[in-house]
Amino acid sequence: MSAEEPTPGTVHLVGAGPGDPGLLTARALHLIATVDVILYDRLIPAEALQSAREDAELLFVGKEGGGPSVPQHETEDLLVERALSGKSVLRLKGGDPFVFGRGGEEALRLKQEGIAFEIVPGVTAGVAAPAHAGIPVTHRGLSTGVAFVTGHRRHDGEDDDGLDWDALAAFPGTLVLYMGVSRLEEISCSLIEAGRREDEPVAVIERGTLPDQRVIIGELRGISKVAAEQGVKAPAITVVGDVVSLADEISWRGTPPLAGVSVAVTRARPQASALALRLKDLGADVVQAPAIEIQPLEAEVPDLASYDLLCLTSPNGVEILFDRLSASGRDARALAGLTVAAIGPGTARALASHGVTADVIPERFVAEGLVQALRDVPVSRALIARAQEARQTLPEALRARGAEVDVLTLYRTVPAPLSGQALRRAASADYITFTSSSTVSFFLESSAAGDGAEAGSEARAGGEEGAGGAHLPLSPATRIVSIGPVTSQTLREHGLAPHVEALRHDIDGLVEALLQDARRRD
Ligand code: SAH
Repeated sequence: MSAEEPTPGTVHLVGAGPGDPGLLTARALHLIATVDVILYDRLIPAEALQSAREDAELLFVGKEGGGPSVPQHETEDLLVERALSGKSVLRLKGGDPFVFGRGGEEALRLKQEGIAFEIVPGVTAGVAAPAHAGIPVTHRGLSTGVAFVTGHRRHDGEDDDGLDWDALAAFPGTLVLYMGVSRLEEISCSLIEAGRREDEPVAVIERGTLPDQRVIIGELRGISKVAAEQGVKAPAITVVGDVVSLADEISWRGTPPLAGVSVAVTRARPQASALALRLKDLGADVVQAPAIEIQPLEAEVPDLASYDLLCLTSPNGVEILFDRLSASGRDARALAGLTVAAIGPGTARALASHGVTADVIPERFVAEGLVQALRDVPVSRALIARAQEARQTLPEALRARGAEVDVLTLYRTVPAPLSGQALRRAASADYITFTSSSTVSFFLESSAAGDGAEAGSEARAGGEEGAGGAHLPLSPATRIVSIGPVTSQTLREHGLAPHVEALRHDIDGLVEALLQDARRRD
């Protein structure tokens, strides 16, 4: 190694647990927040990466849907290459890295390359999923041992999957099978043929520890049929053993409040993720129907020193403002000395992520609220940085106070074409959420233009306020949720009456209102 070459970084092979972000270890969280590079798989908690450094490199090396995964040797090459370039590298794997995780292979390769590594165990699905179903994998008097087995058949041409059915059938304890839910029939038959009891209790736990976890219980003889009827899919753990009968008494998880409820989200995709995550956590089946897209404009940010007030009215506005500032060689210091007002906590959080604390946040997160919150703030020259299609409330109110007001148009919201399938699913969901006027008009536009006509066949009749006689695209059973009065007004203008309006006009408020409505109707 020449003198110029960097000292190799350490590779951390880390278990991320079975899916519930609460089951990440303290060590895993610490490493996520500090390393330079993270290589991750599909089966890691969606929230796990949120605390990664903003400049960290995140590389997905798993399998997307049923598609091919990144070949193991390529993943290993990446680990080696990044470590040799001096980076600290986190290899984040579902569950435990050494339990059917190929962590051992990666460790051997690192050893071979002379790269230092650390192994951080994780909570493995084979123990955690049963625990969340009320099944202890060992129990005095019922099972004195547990065998972790893979039900996966190797795809490398070797027909023999390496399972010794006779030995497994004779094993005096609980069998925990990873993978292979699609082979349940073959597995149960082989176990019975080899002498395992036909009526031995079996549990299949799908998406264990997650809000939408499902537990299917049966006997070895009939379990594959029940699982097929219920449409059980990976990831799932199968537990064979008398311990399964304890689930009756030990099962402790309630049903999440939105289990079995479908909720359509119409906001732009990048913003939708926070809302979708919240809803999924509550057990909802989220239908993504992003009707709008944010299109940044080539705005020139003026010299901010000539203003005494800067108003920001959305998290998007904040992000784009900072992009534009940086495009002209400026940064957060350009805001020095200004009073900075944010329309709500989401916008304030976006500012905080750029190191700026909002001076003013109203109690009601609408323009009127901001006007009210600014009433005692002296303003002579204000800049309002926002979307093209925003209302005139704020500039007019400030001008009425004698202030000079400039509006900086940072972006516009444009319709995003929706596929016929997305429209149909959204139109027949239990709830559809609208988080701005533009989500309303563009969603309706999209459905009128596209396959919406199809969805319209079972449409709600045009509202009393007259939608020009057009068929509206929502199923009569779909409940419409609006973030606040402005969005509700736009809905009414289109002949749709919101069933639920949030009291607090932000995502938390919207979720709260939807939850309350769902509880009332339960
Ligand atoms: N290293 C992982 C296992 C990887 S193999 C661990 O220790 O948990 C992938 C298999 O793990 C899946 O096919 C499934 O059988 C199981 N699995 C992972 N997460 C799961 C979950 N949340 N619920 C049920 N099974 C899960």
